[in-house]
This record gives sequence, C-alpha cells and structure tokens, in this order.
Amino acid sequence: MRIETPRQRRRRHAVEAPFPDEWRTLLAADMVHWRWLDDEERDHLECLVKGFLFDKRFEWVDGLEETDEIKVLVSASACLLILGLETAYYRDVTSIIMHPTQTAQRGQRGAPEAAGLATDAIVPILGEAMLHGPVLIAWDSAKRSAAHPNTGHNVIYHEFAHKIDMADGSADGRPPMTKAQQDRWEEVCRREYEALKDGTNDDPLLDDYGAVNRAEFFAVATELFFDRPVHMQQREADLYGVLSEFYRQDPAERERRYAKRNR
Ligand SMILES: [Zn+2]
Repeated sequence: MRIETPRQRRRRHAVEAPFPDEWRTLLAADMVHWRWLDDEERDHLECLVKGFLFDKRFEWVDGLEETDEIKVLVSASACLLILGLETAYYRDVTSIIMHPTQTAQRGQRGAPEAAGLATDAIVPILGEAMLHGPVLIAWDSAKRSAAHPNTGHNVIYHEFAHKIDMADGSADGRPPMTKAQQDRWEEVCRREYEALKDGTNDDPLLDDYGAVNRAEFFAVATELFFDRPVHMQQREADLYGVLSEFYRQDPAERERRYAKRNR
C-alpha cells in the first residue's frame, strides 16, 4: 500500500468533497461550454476543478476582489482543456494573477496577447503566460468570452494552452505528446502555420495573431478548437483533427449534441 503524505491526503479530501451546488449554479450561468458537457464529462471536470483549486494560488491585483465566481470560472475553463489529458500538463502553472481588465505593457515580454508584434509602444494585454511562472488574466474579457462563445477568442483557453505547450519546458507550439502523434501534428501545424504567415488563404479562420510564432499558433488554434469547434471542423478539418487527437476531446460533437438538445 502506498503511503500518502499529509499534503496528498488533504488534496484527496479536497477532491473527494462534494462539488458545491453554488459553484454548479455559477458555472451553469456563466459558462456556455459547461452547458455543452454531458454528465460524465461534468463529473470529471468538477474533480479537476477541485484539484486545481487545491493546487494553484490566485493573486488579486488592481482592486479586483476575490470571489468564488472568478476562481471557479477560471478553473473550470482552464481544466476543460485537460479533460482528456493528465493534470501534469499544468505543472508549469505557479499561480494565476487576476486583473480586473486589460493592462498596458511596453514592448514584447514573454508572449503578449496584443494585436501587434514586438514593439516599443504601449500595448494592451488581456493575458500572459510566463514560462515557469504565473498566468495573467483580465477578468472582464474572460467572463465575457465564457458567456458569449463562438467568437474564437477566449483568453483563458489561450493562456492555458501556452502552459500546456510549456509543460515540457519550452514554448514552441509543440506540447508534450506521444511519438505516434508527433509526425502528423508537425505536418499539419507546419503547413497551416506557414499558410497563415504567408497569407496564402484569402479568408483565414485563424486569427492573424497565430502567425507571430508557433507558440501563438497553437494558442490561437486551441481557442478556436474549444470556442468554435463545429465551424473549425468544417473549415480546418486537418487542424481540428490533430487537436482532437492531442486533447482527446471532440468539442464539435459536444456542440452539435447541445444544439440538438436545445432545438
Ligand atoms: Zn499568446
């Protein structure tokens, strides 16, 4: 029998405790993608959220006050990405720094989530993921995206995709994956990244920001994969396919199932 450390025991108790009804109510109200899940997926996500909240520290800046709504929505959105993966994909997340709204930053540091490229100008950022460091999130943007999906933009998905990418110690748009997945991943992502960069597609579905580098390409593709899955599957079938294989999820099927149920 394996002996638990006191911390492991506290964590197990936290994960085994019932998921509070108030949190469920918050997620049902705030997070459209929560409504897309079936019972089994939701049970699993609830366990991940409880573990995430035990493991990760939130920091509050610029007058934003700590609430359950923020912690639960951010955790659930982050954990949706790893619903089919191991929790070790978030080992590079040291803490989550919550800002009330976008912050201004000069030039490029890490991976600024602004419209432009490296610059000396002051650029607004909605979020940032630092290698071996914290994730920064603008709460107003995160909340808006969760309630109004299908734009292809979600700062939480974007920043936590960077963290998944960084789980092997480098932000290169190649998250840790099985050998069997790597070749197809490389073939599809390289082709689609080059096409976005060269502007060979007249009407690209992916945001231009994905052309900055392969790390941003992966983060932008992840946003689209979870936020506009049916659309992405129709228009970027190969890219949708490799992401679906990597994440071990099929959000397009989930979106269709939800639409059918609510017709
Ligand atoms: Zn980014």
